[in-house]
Amino acid sequence: MKKIVIIGNGLSAWSVANAFTNKNVQITIIGKKKSLFGAQQLSPNGFNALKRLTESDDVKNIIYEIIQFQINNNNNNKIKNLKKFFFKEFDLKYYSVSREMLINLLIKNIKNKIKIIEINKSCVGILQRNNEKFDVLLENEELISADVIIGADGVNGVTRKHVCGTTNIIRKKVFRGISNDKNKLLLKQKTLELNFSNYGHFVSYPFVKNDKKYINYVFIPNKSFQNSNEILDRLKSISNFSSVNWNEGYFYFFEDEIQTLHKNNILLFGDAGFSFEPHLAQVGNNIIEDARYLKFLLDNNNSYNEIFENFSINTCKKKIELKTISNIVGISFGINTFTKLRNSLVSNLSDQLICNFLKKVWYD
Ligand SMILES: Cc1cc2nc3c(=O)[nH]c(=O)nc-3n(C[C@H](O)[C@H](O)[C@H](O)COP(=O)(O)OP(=O)(O)OC[C@H]3O[C@@H](n4cnc5c(N)ncnc54)[C@H](O)[C@@H]3O)c2cc1C
Repeated sequence: MKKIVIIGNGLSAWSVANAFTNKNVQITIIGKKKSLFGAQQLSPNGFNALKRLTESDDVKNIIYEIIQFQINNNNNNKIKNLKKFFFKEFDLKYYSVSREMLINLLIKNIKNKIKIIEINKSCVGILQRNNEKFDVLLENEELISADVIIGADGVNGVTRKHVCGTTNIIRKKVFRGISNDKNKLLLKQKTLELNFSNYGHFVSYPFVKNDKKYINYVFIPNKSFQNSNEILDRLKSISNFSSVNWNEGYFYFFEDEIQTLHKNNILLFGDAGFSFEPHLAQVGNNIIEDARYLKFLLDNNNSYNEIFENFSINTCKKKIELKTISNIVGISFGINTFTKLRNSLVSNLSDQLICNFLKKVWYD
């Protein structure tokens, strides 16, 4: 029985574990338990991939349907709607999902099918014994043997360093918050909102966790406020978002383009392999899609080297395109000048054009 060791225990780790459902393997997941925060958007490609990956009807119990996408401009607390787009008019389904419920579903699903060994420790290195065998070194100097390693340990993990050496990592500030304010929930029914402001842009949408409704907020400061110490005060001065309890954090992505996601039987998966800015809400959706694709390859092939090579070629191609689109979108969201021109362009976007753009991003 092949020993698969997955390093990391976030969305990627549990998604990729589900790819092995039909294999006779022993899976070990290494990573420290963390509490999970907030929600993510689930676009049609992510939703379909999740259903096919888990082969479970339980998916519908954790999602919340979003019917409308609104783009507003918020200038000195004057809100102007620039665009309203209704997903249903184009027969598109869009959802939000609590991160905790999503990961719990993936955990429950794979644990029903395969015995998983969980090690609540950090990995500090990978040692290659020979061409086919590895040892994963834990923080307490324990060694875990592996035939196949999946690095799902994020942008700053050890697997990426082992496979690629050092890579340039870009760090950007982000603020996140959740709220269960009833008035805001009423106003925000089933709506995904993008708000431009002078300081940066806000993305907000409702989601459901354990039958309770919340709003998930993300704020990305624009370039001139990325390093500002006053940004939190500025955020509080925007009345629509002043009651949100903001948590400051960072998101990371690679500057360099990666050529391959694997080295022999070590595969980089999720953010550890390829990461880009979150403006298309596609990084997490792509993780689920990639796990579904890997499952397809695993179900139809026995050579890990071949599977990882095919996976690497096909997913890298797609992600390089997504990264380019995401960068352009990010620049237009975060500009400080020509905002009138941007707003006028957004106001004049036709629904059909938005639909075509989204379908391209989702490979629908
Ligand atoms: C602001 C923001 C909003 C987003 N919104 C969306 C969205 O709406 N839709 C969407 O599809 N995507 C979204 N994303 C992207 C998506 O959430 C992330 O890209 C995704 O969580 C990455 O998952 P991951 O498991 O690959 O990496 P991570 O979440 O970074 O997880 C890596 C895990 O590995 C563990 N680890 C690290 N090092 C080690 C080690 N040495 N040993 C053991 N374990 C280790 C960590 O503790 C962690 O649990 C968003 C991202 C950001 C920043």
